[in-house]
Amino acid sequence: MTASPDSPLATLWCPSPNREPRVNGRAPDMLVLHYTGMDSAEAALDWLTREESKVSCHYLVDEDGRITQIVREEERAWHAGQSRWAGETDLNSCSIGIEIHNPGHEFGYHDFPDAQMQAVEALCRDIFTRHPIRPERVLAHSDIAPGRKRDPGEKFDWARLAKFGIGLWVEPAPVSSELGLGPGDEGEPVATLQQELAAFGYGVEITGTYGRGLENVVEAFQRHFRPERIDGRADASTRDTLKRLLAAVQGTPVA
Ligand SMILES: [Zn+2]
Repeated sequence: MTASPDSPLATLWCPSPNREPRVNGRAPDMLVLHYTGMDSAEAALDWLTREESKVSCHYLVDEDGRITQIVREEERAWHAGQSRWAGETDLNSCSIGIEIHNPGHEFGYHDFPDAQMQAVEALCRDIFTRHPIRPERVLAHSDIAPGRKRDPGEKFDWARLAKFGIGLWVEPAPVSSELGLGPGDEGEPVATLQQELAAFGYGVEITGTYGRGLENVVEAFQRHFRPERIDGRADASTRDTLKRLLAAVQGTPVA
């Protein structure tokens, strides 16, 4: 390991022992964004670089915008945990993980400061100069581990990032009082929803039954793409937003 970070934007280099070669030498083509969910960025850095934690990431972004590199981009960091996207389950091998300091839902979740967002934007764009990462492969930890993870959460400004060419975003359809599909529903509309979520990349089975697993995935989708209401129900706004995102990925206009 060299003594210098991959990114010129990283002003600190604190190597973590929690790393290994990427399986089959896989080149990263996914970006996973997290919040630390801890009291302070210092505590997070300590944890991410401690052998017994068995966790790490490639970069940590402090609230003031300071960037620390922890694992070389060519190596496999341990940030995704049990996760799934587009049929793959070893997401640590194909991704670069960025921890963005925020106490998170359990310790006083708050907005991400401007200086921190600017640093995240600059870092993502810098990573793109070394690795081709498609917009739809810039994901939240909650997208790849629905029901288990909520980070970086609904306060994370994905729309702002998209303005800088980072990640996929469409303006969410307006929320209405229509309840749509929800837990307990069954049949063709539920199967169609499951197919669309799976086509987008979410780990969802096509069962035709709206169970807890689907509710978790819909919540994860809303947290990222329709944060105004996160209730796990596939209302018209949620379904319409999903359809337009799918069309954007597939490069076809919505009929
Ligand atoms: Zn996370």
